[in-house]
Amino acid sequence: MDIQSVRGFHDIFGKEARKFRKVTQTARNLLERYNFEEIILPVVEFAQLFQRSVGETTDIVQKEMFVFEDKKGRKLALRPEGTASAVRAFIQNKLYALRPYTKLFYEGPMFRYERPQAGRYRQFHQIGAEVFGVAEPHADAELIKLVYDILSELGIKGVVVEINSLGCKEDRKRYREALLSYLGGVRGELCPDCVSRMERNPLRVLDCKVEACKSATARAPKITDFLCEECREHYEKLKEYLKALGIPFRENPHLVRGLDYYTRTVFEAVSDELGLTLIAGGRYDYLVEELGGPPTPALGFALGVERLMLLLPDEEQKRDVYFVIPFGDVHAYALKVADLLRRLGKTVEYSYRKGGLKKQLEFANKLGVRYAVIVGEDEMRNGEVTIKDMKTGEQRRVKLSELEEGKLG
Ligand SMILES: [Zn+2]
Ligand SMILES: [Zn+2]
Repeated sequence: MDIQSVRGFHDIFGKEARKFRKVTQTARNLLERYNFEEIILPVVEFAQLFQRSVGETTDIVQKEMFVFEDKKGRKLALRPEGTASAVRAFIQNKLYALRPYTKLFYEGPMFRYERPQAGRYRQFHQIGAEVFGVAEPHADAELIKLVYDILSELGIKGVVVEINSLGCKEDRKRYREALLSYLGGVRGELCPDCVSRMERNPLRVLDCKVEACKSATARAPKITDFLCEECREHYEKLKEYLKALGIPFRENPHLVRGLDYYTRTVFEAVSDELGLTLIAGGRYDYLVEELGGPPTPALGFALGVERLMLLLPDEEQKRDVYFVIPFGDVHAYALKVADLLRRLGKTVEYSYRKGGLKKQLEFANKLGVRYAVIVGEDEMRNGEVTIKDMKTGEQRRVKLSELEEGKLG
């Protein structure tokens, strides 16, 4: 075929699709148990939304956004993340007027023009949650617990949550000065990216992955030493609650997250074994106001579905499938048998395979079905079916009336 999918945009099928659903269903089930409500957000927004929220100086906005003009020359973007859209929706729909606080989650594709590599795509999928209207740290603790629960439920072992506090605007300002003067002293050791980051967004130098930068910033001042009384107390309480919940965590003063909007708590659930960040999030207490809403403290997280899929084992489909094999000209009867089984709540595959019974049973084995339901002319005459247990090989004739009474294997 001469038309292929666009580079970085991929098909997800077979066992990968099952992993995809396992991640999204597990997250959704937990989000619902925490009583979050779903919001279904558009994929396209005005590019300006991300420039003003994610930040003009971030890699996402500078290099990675899919931006295009519509027919009226308006600058639109495929969303690179979900928080900005959720905040926009929260303000635009005046959700703040409905309740003292609001808990939303969203799911869907995000788009970033990154270099495609293993497990990284230009269209990728996220599930995210946002809490609007709560400043207190028990909300932070609950959100981190939710993240931890999702990873536990997925069977991912050895998860540790790294936390840090970025403080409020004033703390950030004081810290920025101290950090800049420190970075001035080690400027010669930094990578070229970090030298230019120094002017635009010096905090981001702290999470540079280049070894030289890591060792140059190892003794940099810590932002947690610059927190005001309120921010310090917020952070202390968070740690107290995480301990109470039994969540393994450690403080990481270099954890700053890539986006501009974070304040106070930031966190990343990481796997030390794999050296991977699994789920990340934090507080953004000024963002709602900065985008034109009423002052509203807020926090959230987002998980990358493809990222978590990498950690799941391959699994076969584990459904007890009833495989109805019509044998001869019996479709009028066999279709009704399949219908009856489905009404009884069973998963039923009606065989479209042509050929003799032996071929059909071979095909049933290949599909890994649990029961073959053989419907031949003799069964039809007697109002019966033959049910073969594909695991044990056991086979028995059953009256349809018995099936209806629920006497199934
Ligand atoms: Zn503060
Ligand atoms: Zn660097």
